Amino acid sequence: MVVGSGRYPRAMLIGAHVRDDDPLTAARERGADVVQFFLADPQSWKAPQRPVQADDLAAAGVEIFIHSPYLINVASMNNRVRVPSRKAVVQHAAGAAEIAAKGLVVHGGQLRKDEDADAGIANWRKLFERQADEGGFGVPILIENTAGGDNAMARHLEALARLWDVVGEFGAGFCLDTCHAFAAGWELEHAVDRVLGITGRIDLVHLNNSRDEFGSTRDRHANVVGGVGTIDPDLLAEVARAAAAPVVVETPAEGQQGDIEFLRQALGT
Ligand SMILES: [Zn+2]
Repeated sequence: MVVGSGRYPRAMLIGAHVRDDDPLTAARERGADVVQFFLADPQSWKAPQRPVQADDLAAAGVEIFIHSPYLINVASMNNRVRVPSRKAVVQHAAGAAEIAAKGLVVHGGQLRKDEDADAGIANWRKLFERQADEGGFGVPILIENTAGGDNAMARHLEALARLWDVVGEFGAGFCLDTCHAFAAGWELEHAVDRVLGITGRIDLVHLNNSRDEFGSTRDRHANVVGGVGTIDPDLLAEVARAAAAPVVVETPAEGQQGDIEFLRQALGT
């Protein structure tokens, strides 16, 4: 944990993952200054749609992050997954750029147990290399750490370091998910320092509590406050403070307002 390091932002942006049909109202109800949403059904390969309220959000000064579909697995050795994954990242990044979003979140992905992790990393490199030839993605690609998977690209810090040796030079960004980190067995007290030692940057925090125990490898988000989560809310607030990046809660909708209020109080923003 970095305390007193001078990395405190003047005003930390705090918000939530919301539905894409009325993000402006969702932001107002929650007191959010940043929202994240999908540009298409996250369980599909559908092309991204321009959200109805992109201009309204901009006019209201609400910042936007876009989350890419869950099916995406850039690392995959399977052509039928990797090829549409690359295409989807490019399309969703373009959709995000069109509405001046601050980044596109993409999960690190994983290989099968018997596959060579270096080949998955090489697939990540190809994604960035090819798009560099096309002039880039238009928004930062924020690679998110994941909760489980025996051969995941961004579950263990050692794996993340190997991935970053390759993607770092292309300007890849990082999204730290606290639920996933906790599930993967990262000590949250040191997570921000460890990650910064590898990536040099944290662009976004998914500040989620977990329904499960430390090291569970399970990905079940809980509200930051409210008693369901197994992580101390004050520790989560400390992670947000140390990361000094925009914060998005991806927690059950009915508790998001309370989560945001707690964080504003804890962080004094
Ligand atoms: Zn997340």
